[in-house]
Parts: sequence; C-alpha cells; structure tokens
Amino acid sequence: MKKDLVSRRSFIKKCLNAAGAGALISTSCALIGSTTASEQVWQIDPDKCMQCDRCATDCVLSISAVKCIHSFDMCGYCKLCYGYFKPSFLEMETGAENQLCPTGAIKRKFIENPFYEYSIDYELCIGCGKCVKACGMFGNRSLYLQISHEYCLNCNECSIAKNCPSEAFTRISIENPYLLKVVS
Ligand code: SF4
Ligand code: SF4
Ligand code: SF4
Repeated sequence: MKKDLVSRRSFIKKCLNAAGAGALISTSCALIGSTTASEQVWQIDPDKCMQCDRCATDCVLSISAVKCIHSFDMCGYCKLCYGYFKPSFLEMETGAENQLCPTGAIKRKFIENPFYEYSIDYELCIGCGKCVKACGMFGNRSLYLQISHEYCLNCNECSIAKNCPSEAFTRISIENPYLLKVVS
C-alpha cells in the first residue's frame, strides 16, 4: 500500500479506487474546474494523524468537514470490521448497541457469505476517528481521515490545523487536493 497525491489528471480514477471517496469528489471536481493551480486547499496526512478527536470538535462547521474514507482498494469485504463493531459487541449484526460509530455513519451490506461491504455515509460522519483508531489497532488501516472539499470552507486559518497535535494538516495545491491510500 502507498499514499498517493492525487493530481488533476488521475483525480477521478484514483478517488474511485479509494472508494467511499466517491461522494468526497463530486463537488471537488467542480471546485477544481473553477480554480487555478496556484490556489491552495487544506489536506491531512493520514500517516501523521493520531485520531485525537479534534477533527470532530474544532472545525468551524457544526458537522466537521473532515470525514472517514474507506479504501476499498485495501479492504472492504470483511465479515468482522473492527471499525464497525464495538470491541464489546454482543452479536455481529447491525444493532446500534453493537456499532462503534456514534452516528451510525458506517453502513454494512451483505455481499456473499461470509463477506460484508462497509461504506461511509458522509452526511452522518463527524470525523471523530473512532473507527480509524480501531482499524489501525486491529485491522489494516484501510480507514482514515481526510478533509472533504465538498464540505470544507477552505478557511485561511483552519481551526483544526491550528490545534492538531501531530501537524497532520498542510496547505497544498488545488492540483493535488487529496492524499488517498491506494494499493500500488
Ligand atoms: S487534529 Fe490532527 S491528529 Fe487530531 S484527528 Fe485531526 S488530523 Fe488527526
Ligand atoms: S466513527 Fe467517527 S470517523 Fe468513523 S464513520 Fe463514524 S463518525 Fe465518521
Ligand atoms: S478549513 Fe475551515 S471548514 Fe475546512 S476543515 Fe478547517 S476549520 Fe473546517
């Protein structure tokens, strides 16, 4: 697995490979179409992020512009997803009491025995990183946080970046708006 700075040229292809990111890119394509290469946007380095919860609490928006991305390229068809289930889950089913996500943003869909597909509802995701932390501890780190330019206001001084303890936020050219995890 590698991290990939997604350029204008490979933008759509790479984002679709890092699926779950589909909703992240729809408006961003329009955004990129109307901006110049000299403009900059905020970006998270997933390898520096330690899921401190500030992405959920410090954004100026009432629901954070930071969202969880699930790289289907790396994963996507597990029976037991550690990002989905609480460590103390009672049964492997969709009851709220079994789910780790506080907003029910991770959706679980049966594919074929024994595989389920897990995807993120970005309208519900608050960027708390709970699922990312669990996937990092027990899984393969295919869940990670990234800023959605569909929601982000692109503040000159990002209030999350100011308080990020791991300096995971950087300003980057609109040419490479997303740092996504993909399989090489
Ligand atoms: S503030 Fe920084 S370390 Fe904390 S969750 Fe956001 S990117 Fe990760
Ligand atoms: S656990 Fe947090 S970061 Fe993960 S999908 Fe739910 S709201 Fe988003
Ligand atoms: S730039 Fe503004 S809207 Fe975007 S993530 Fe930072 S605080 Fe939120």
